[in-house]
Amino acid sequence: MQDVVEKVYEQVVARNRGEVEFHQAVHEVLESLDPVIAKHPHYADGALLERIVEPERQIMFRVPWVDDAGQVHVNRGFRIEFNSALGPYKGGLRFHPSVNAGIIKFLGFEQIFKNALTAQGIGGGKGGSDFDPHGRSDAEVMRFCQSFMTELARHIGPSTDVPAGDIGVGGREIGYMFGQYKRLRNSYDAGVLTGKGLAWGGSLVRTEATGYGTVLFAQSMLATKGESLEGKKVLVSGAGNVAIYAIEKAQQLGATPITFSDSSGYVVDEAGVDLELLKQVKEVERGRVADYVERRPGARLVTGGSVWDVPGDVALPCATQNELDGDAANTLLRGGCGVVSEGANMPSTPEAVEAFQKAGILFAPGKAANAGGVATSALEMAQNAGRTRWDFATAEAKLTGIMADIHDSCVAAAEEYGRPGDYVLGANAAGFTRVADVMIAHGIV
Ligand code: NDP
Repeated sequence: MQDVVEKVYEQVVARNRGEVEFHQAVHEVLESLDPVIAKHPHYADGALLERIVEPERQIMFRVPWVDDAGQVHVNRGFRIEFNSALGPYKGGLRFHPSVNAGIIKFLGFEQIFKNALTAQGIGGGKGGSDFDPHGRSDAEVMRFCQSFMTELARHIGPSTDVPAGDIGVGGREIGYMFGQYKRLRNSYDAGVLTGKGLAWGGSLVRTEATGYGTVLFAQSMLATKGESLEGKKVLVSGAGNVAIYAIEKAQQLGATPITFSDSSGYVVDEAGVDLELLKQVKEVERGRVADYVERRPGARLVTGGSVWDVPGDVALPCATQNELDGDAANTLLRGGCGVVSEGANMPSTPEAVEAFQKAGILFAPGKAANAGGVATSALEMAQNAGRTRWDFATAEAKLTGIMADIHDSCVAAAEEYGRPGDYVLGANAAGFTRVADVMIAHGIV
């Protein structure tokens, strides 16, 4: 790293002690900025780099709630409003026991550049709680969401900060939170949350968008080599929103997804995933991956090792951060994998990314490949503002166009800064310059 960039990184580590995921995300972006700053030194003026790594605002709050047995629990809520240069803060809410300030900060930081890549006029934010919805009744989830929103409502709004879903937050949770927001404000501000139900302001294709987008990005990368997904064996991790719709789009494009996973293990279904059964188990019954195997002859559940031990042509990590390490990357490469498109945020460790890049395979970082979700959230906001609703084909065509534009922006930036085919550099450089130009225009704020 150049001196000027290295100093910023050292300050981030010193100021945000123990927040290792945040350090990792900042390092990856700053490293990519070396050639950008070398070519355009003015991006380091006015403490722009120091400002971009410092959240505009961080909110941390108590979330008390009562379980079905009458016992009181206290969780911690977070919202990071990281950067509003391009528009209202935008980013999901994660409910998972692992959530802490550093994880929310890394996600919020990534979100700035991802949102810039979508060209939809949205700033970067993220939030969540260490609440674990697994095994909780609907009534418990509702009481938690109402308590969470009672505080969050003071900080958000359709032109201020617009949260959405992430791990552990889907349509049910967004519904409970919207209900409480509406009650507190006495105002039907549909544009305050995205990922809403179709009957109350949601957008068609929002549910599918992140998974679809991740696969569309893989298809665009393959097209640069004159190839496609047709006939390819696809490995997917996770069995949530992103994983399910990545499997759906991969199947539509003629590929055969053969795996998925959750925190209890992974499933290999060599005949190709039965998507209807997977949706029934995960979306309708909120079950575990073992429930799929029980009803699907030929599928097997593996509880040791990792899904990346399975040989395949394309890998789509769609579960969580740092789920694919250097050893797993080398195993994937030995198994013949030539494409990795990240559906999750930062699922590959730095060692894994290095292994993929050294091997010269097609590798797309999450901030580019999974941007279809937030892009479609911006489309939901546009429909809410216009009090209109697009049909599925219209919304999907817009998503497809946005993903193609993101792909092309990454390719162009990688070429401009001398590393053709490097989608990590391309995504970081293209996202950064869009935000940085507007920060310069807005002055020192
Ligand atoms: P869901 O909660 O719908 O699904 C998450 C899946 O990943 C579940 O199968 C879960 O298993 C598994 N998982 C989560 N944490 C772990 C863990 N520590 N170890 C093993 N498995 C784990 O979340 P999403 O599908 O929405 O999100 C998945 C990823 O995609 C996240 O990184 C998220 O930030 C990213 N993303 C999501 C977007 C969206 O629109 N939803 C947009 C852009 C990125 P289990 O149920 O057992 O915990």
